[in-house]
Order: sequence, then structure tokens, then C-alpha cells
Amino acid sequence: MADRVTLEKGSELVINHNNVKTVTSHFFPDHETAIQEIFKALKKHHIIKDLTTIKAVGHRIVHGGSIFREPVLATPAVIVKLKALIPLAPLHNPAGLAVLKVVMKMISAPNILVFDTSFHNTIPELHRLYPVPWKWYQENAVKKYGFHGISYQYIVTMLEKLNDHKPVNAIICHLGNGSSVAVVEKSKSLNTTMGLTPIGGLMMGTRCGTIDPSIHNYIATARNLSLTEITHQLNKKSGLLAISGISSDMRDIEKKAFTEKNHRAQLALNIYAQKVADYVAKYTNNLMTGPLQYLVFTAGIGENSQTMVQNILGRLPILALKLNAHPVKKANHILLTNSASPITAMVMKTNEELMICKITAAFTTQNNNEQ
Ligand code: AMP
Repeated sequence: MADRVTLEKGSELVINHNNVKTVTSHFFPDHETAIQEIFKALKKHHIIKDLTTIKAVGHRIVHGGSIFREPVLATPAVIVKLKALIPLAPLHNPAGLAVLKVVMKMISAPNILVFDTSFHNTIPELHRLYPVPWKWYQENAVKKYGFHGISYQYIVTMLEKLNDHKPVNAIICHLGNGSSVAVVEKSKSLNTTMGLTPIGGLMMGTRCGTIDPSIHNYIATARNLSLTEITHQLNKKSGLLAISGISSDMRDIEKKAFTEKNHRAQLALNIYAQKVADYVAKYTNNLMTGPLQYLVFTAGIGENSQTMVQNILGRLPILALKLNAHPVKKANHILLTNSASPITAMVMKTNEELMICKITAAFTTQNNNEQ
């Protein structure tokens, strides 16, 4: 895994093989460099002999729009359609396409595209539609798509194992550089915070999340900015970075908040926690079949920042959770609540890479069988 791609400091290449984790410092100016370094490391660590031994490559593509609802084999025609979706995910789809281009040049194996939007295909109209002119929906496909679907799918699979392999009702907080919350009813996505694009919902590392839609027009006039520039600032210069004035990275902000009692760092942490708690509380009201069973925290912040998870839980008295004095380490999660709690709260490590591999393997096996 290549971490902190495009950031100047602290980038790492992490290779996890046979339960041995090797971390090396790197600088990845772009995603192409990152993927080339990953291939070099796979050979160096004898995970692959050479690139011809790779049978298929699975790619995470953030936005599948209305076109791609299921995984698909990358072809020139598919790439043309993907390019048309860039305006919907300007931070992500270009990086995904750049990596795909590099991999297609280097490897002749099939490339399978797995979409973050697919898991949310089940969101009903009730939660999917925006109250905007109907033509925007009919003619321009303006609606909620939702993201982090690969991560949610992985977590749901793991929760089902804890639930005697039965479907689950859960609220999952995927808290990373990109952050979202999803409510899952009978293992299917019912609602999620991100919308037409991955900027909606929660405040994130550099993204503003849901804000008053009039801000665009007001700021365009007040600061003489174009819509493109405003959209860029809301995607890249907002969120934790903007409030803290320090960094988009939770580790940097926590350091300043806790060691220096920096006010803006503390404010950034508290606004973030409040917004997560607000959506969790709202989503308990979305579930119609049976009670909420699980509340899960995952991704970089959810898995690693105990203080943030505690901050969020402290804002959720409505859930009446019975918290363990000390979290209990289990095989695949950390249990935060005791057996008297009406809802089981936990920290669970997501594994999008494994989920993509499983989907890719299933796709290629099915296609080989059909040929
Ligand atoms: P992700 O996008 O899932 O890789 O998550 C990245 C976010 O997780 C960044 O804001 C990191 O600062 C945060 N993160 C990773 N490790 C830690 C940690 N030990 N404590 C606090 N935040 C962390």
C-alpha cells in the first residue's frame, strides 16, 4: 500500500506479506509513481516473480455513476465512459484512471473495475432523491450515489460472521481522509452521507461536506471566484484543514490539540465528532425493520484514533450505550460495549484491498466459466 500519495512529508510504502509488515519511507509525487513503486516492492519481497504471473488486477474506482452498477472489465470503450464521469468525482476518478493506464501498459492481464458506488444501489428513492427540479434527476441523473461501498461491503461481510451468518442492521462510520457514515438494513445499504459526489455529508480531511448551497453563489460574488475555483476550494482547502489551519491529517491535528491545546485544532476535532454523531443519531431513525445491532468505526481515523471515537460516542447519549471501561480485543474487532448494551459498538479494521481481490477473483472465474 502507498500511503499519503502527493503529500510532501511522511509518505510510506507498506508491504504486508505472510503477517510480516515492512514499512519504508517514500515520496510519491503522483499515483503513477506510487503504483510503479508497489510493483517494484512486490518483486523485491518475492511476492511475485515478475509481472506476467499476475492473473488479474482489481481497481477501486470511486464513481460508477448511473452507468456502472456492477464490476466491469476495463476496455477502451469503458474508459471513454469513465472519463465522462470525472466531473462527478474530480478528486478520485482521475487518479483511478491514471493508475489503470499505467497498469494496462505494464501488464497484459485483465483489469477489473470495482466501484465504490455499487454497494449503495439498494438505497431507496426515499433517501436517494434530492428535492431539486425533477428534470435534474431524470435528465442529468442528479441523485445520491454514495461511496466507500467496498469498505462497507467488507464490514458487512464481517458483521454477518458475528451474527450467525444472518443479515445485519448496522451503522458504519468509515472515517478516513474521506469520511462517510452508512446505515445498513438487513445487510443492504439504506442510506449514506455522501451524495452525488464524495464531497457531501461529513466534514473530511480537505472536503467541506454538506453546506448551505447558497455559499457558492455568495462567495462567487463576494470573492470574485469562478464556480470551478470555488468547487476546488471546497474539495481541497476545506474540512479539517480549513478549520484547524494546520493539516488535513488527523494525527497532525490531534498532536496540536493535545500537546499545545491549540484552539482551532480542538475546534476541528469537535466539529468533526459532532457531525459524525449527528448522522449516527439521524440514521437510527431510518431503520424500519428491527433494532440497530451494530455501530462500527473503521478506516484510518475510526481504527486508530481512540480519542476521536470516544469524542463521538460522548455525543450520542441517545443510543444509551453501555461502554466497557477498557475496550476488549477480539479476533477481528475491538469491542467498545459490554453485554448489557442495547447496541454493540466496535472498532473494526476495514480491508478494501481484500474485498476488491475477492470481487475480482469472482468476476474472472465467472467470466472464464462463461467463455
Ligand atoms: P485513510 O483515508 O483511511 O487512510 O485514513 C487517513 C486518516 O487516518 C488521516 O487523517 C490520518 O491522520 C488518520 N490516522 C491514521 N492513523 C492514525 C492514528 N494513529 N491516530 C489518529 N489518526 C490516524
